[in-house]
This record gives sequence, C-alpha cells and structure tokens, in this order.
Amino acid sequence: MSQLEDILRYNEKFVQNGDFRPYEAPSRPIKKMTIVSCMDCRLIELLPKAMNVKNGDAIILKSAGGMVESPYSNIMKSILVSLYELGSRAVYIIGHTDCGMHGLHATKMIEDIKKTGIDEHKFASVQINLNQWLNGFQSVEDEVRKSVSIVSTHPLLPDNTPVIGLVIDPKTGELTPVD
Ligand SMILES: [Zn+2]
Repeated sequence: MSQLEDILRYNEKFVQNGDFRPYEAPSRPIKKMTIVSCMDCRLIELLPKAMNVKNGDAIILKSAGGMVESPYSNIMKSILVSLYELGSRAVYIIGHTDCGMHGLHATKMIEDIKKTGIDEHKFASVQINLNQWLNGFQSVEDEVRKSVSIVSTHPLLPDNTPVIGLVIDPKTGELTPVD
C-alpha cells in the first residue's frame, strides 16, 4: 500500500470515529502567542507539550532551524498576519540544540544536490546566491538572537510586542532563555 493510501484509509476511520473531537478549537490563538520553531520532526509534539500549548492555543510557524532570515521573508509575513489578523500579542523564537542547520554549509548541500544528478543548467537558472541562501548557522543562540533582532526591529511590528528567544533541548524539552 502506498503512503497516501495508508493515510487516506487511516483518515477515513479518524473522521468516522470522531477522533478529531479532542482537538476542536477556535481559529484564533487562545493564549495569544506566536511561536517560530524548527521543522525538526522530534519537536512535532514535544515542543507544544513542553510549553503547555494545546490545539488552539498558539500559532506555530516552522522553518529549517526556526530561522527568520529576512524582514520580508514568508515567515516574517506570517508573524505579522498572526499579530494583526489573528490576535497574537507575543512572539517566541525557539531554536534547539542538535539542529540539522547547525554547521550546515551551503557547499555541502550544493554537493548533495549535484550528487543526485541534477543538471548544471538548472543551477544556472537559480536566481539567488546559493552559497548564502543554503547556509545554516554556527551557533544556535546567535541565530536565535539574529531572528529576534529581525522581528523586534521590523518597522511594522506592533508597539510593545514582546519578542522572546529560547532554545529547547529536543530530548528533554528543557527550555533555556537566550538573552
Ligand atoms: Zn532544527
């Protein structure tokens, strides 16, 4: 059975059995908070549980490394939507230890892409400097500080919006504030 068939078969029972009921929630975040965190699969359930965040409590945005890379990135737009249109009042930027973006160099990722046999002319058609764009970071704390700075100095951020940096341990869920 393909993965999609598997998902759809499971989903049919999920809906029929009313297994969605424990997750019913309003569309605006009850705790009025926006969380930006890494897409790491260990954080799917651990991060909200470790923060006592349940379905409906928060807007959770994910990216590789939890990075907010530019004031005009998709993540920054989503943060503004969460604040202006969905009623969030605070932003939490949460990096984590043992992150795949820690120490990732663009040169390695470009090599990995090339190894799959992707055509050189496809690289030539890319309209961004891959050597910058595909880079990870060297220090999770510094990266969180950088993201906090991009969000907190954004010209459209509502006045007095707290922007808080944290690092989570993906094994224990322990949160450590980043100054
Ligand atoms: Zn990560």
